[in-house]
Amino acid sequence: KPGVMYMALRVAVIGAGAAGLCAARHLLSKPGTFSPPVVFESGGTVGGTWAYEERVGTYDNGRAIHSSMYQNLRTNLPKEVMMFPDFPFDPELDSFIPHQEVLRYLQQYCAHFNIAPHIRFNTAVERVRPVVMETTDKKPRTEWEVTSSDDAGSERTERFDSVFVCSGYKLYFLKWELMHSHSYRHPDPFSGKTVVVLGAKASAIDISMELSTVAQKVYLSHRPPPLTFPLPPNVTETESIQKIQDDGTVLFQDGRVVSTDSLLLCTGYNFTFPFVSGAELGVRVEADFVGPLYRHLMPPSYPSIFFIGLCTQICPFPHFHCQVQYCLAVLEGSVTLPSVQQMAQESDSWLEDRLRRGVPQRHLLRVEQEQWEYCRALANDANFCQIRDGVRALFQEVWRQRRVHPVLYRKHNYRLISDTQWERIAAHD
Ligand code: FAD
Repeated sequence: KPGVMYMALRVAVIGAGAAGLCAARHLLSKPGTFSPPVVFESGGTVGGTWAYEERVGTYDNGRAIHSSMYQNLRTNLPKEVMMFPDFPFDPELDSFIPHQEVLRYLQQYCAHFNIAPHIRFNTAVERVRPVVMETTDKKPRTEWEVTSSDDAGSERTERFDSVFVCSGYKLYFLKWELMHSHSYRHPDPFSGKTVVVLGAKASAIDISMELSTVAQKVYLSHRPPPLTFPLPPNVTETESIQKIQDDGTVLFQDGRVVSTDSLLLCTGYNFTFPFVSGAELGVRVEADFVGPLYRHLMPPSYPSIFFIGLCTQICPFPHFHCQVQYCLAVLEGSVTLPSVQQMAQESDSWLEDRLRRGVPQRHLLRVEQEQWEYCRALANDANFCQIRDGVRALFQEVWRQRRVHPVLYRKHNYRLISDTQWERIAAHD
């Protein structure tokens, strides 16, 4: 309004992985509206899960190791699709790249948008609390009290107008014989052993194939439907596990009993936001579900704390890119939100609809095909560029190929040739 002085909004970003860097990049692009953000990062580097760590368990300072990368991981999406829409990967690289290249890309993104000066490394957010303020126009305004602690143990509490939660997924469940893929780094420790791998998503398949090169025997155990591609001779597909018997053998649903050296759980990752109280925000924060949130982003009663990247089976970087820009438009006021009641109703009915359709709780946030329409709606409402149709088409093609052959799909290279079209180009080997 004319004559009214607006203060730039102060925003805290929790995490300097891909989502947190994306939030910081867009916040920095609007200096009049937003103060430079404070990015809290509990680790010592940017990149989040892409910052490979050879060790598993905890760092010397007692904090849990965050990265879930394993030594030989290559991306399961081509870089042409995976990239942030405003920042391409090095064109010289193959389409499917090793994890080191993704980290390098995120470091370049951080340098290009000059984000590093705004990151407080080795500083973990411990608590986030809403503080509702009375204002002269009787409209309550929420500020956020963010308490963080650094490695030296000093604690600090600051106030912000908004918080972007970009802390990724976590799994702090570690044991040797029973291991989660979060703690898998390379196949050597499994040499000559029998291993049961539980799960059939990208990590389970990749790790089983890798293990088959050194292990004596691999059992790939998962729920139906059966796999549709050939497996190496020492990998046997089995039904899911019924129980671990008293003598340590594994009983599968089909009655088969196997004696194994290791059980590797490739069963996905959990949400945990130990620094917020879901009850206080009016949302359920469970291991496999967070919500209901308006547009999978914000609690209807507190539309200035944003959870970036909760949905699964998505194209992560472009998805973050859209979510962040929508949230900034909400904060700026260029998107007008419905009333709290309407947002709650919309979020609840989305959830009820999925439950009615029999979607199990652990898959509620699996958006898959819906992701494109979701991003399109965010871009329409907040008036920013849509994800190119070519990205969607190539993503779907790769997704399809991955189902047909989860190893060979990576041998192709791709190029986007227009907004809507892509082409396959010469393979690298
Ligand atoms: P993260 O990368 O997990 O970053 C979160 C950051 O928050 C971390 O740096 C962490 O230290 C910090 N943090 C957490 N809690 C706190 C706190 N309390 N205070 C301060 N800081 C905190 N995606 C693809 O696009 N292509 C792929 O090929 C692909 N392969 C994958 C393979 C594996 C094994 C895994 C685990 C994921 C893969 N992904 C892939 C998905 C990947 O998770 C996303 O691409 C993306 O990197 C997630 O970014 P994020 O910022 O949400 O989370």
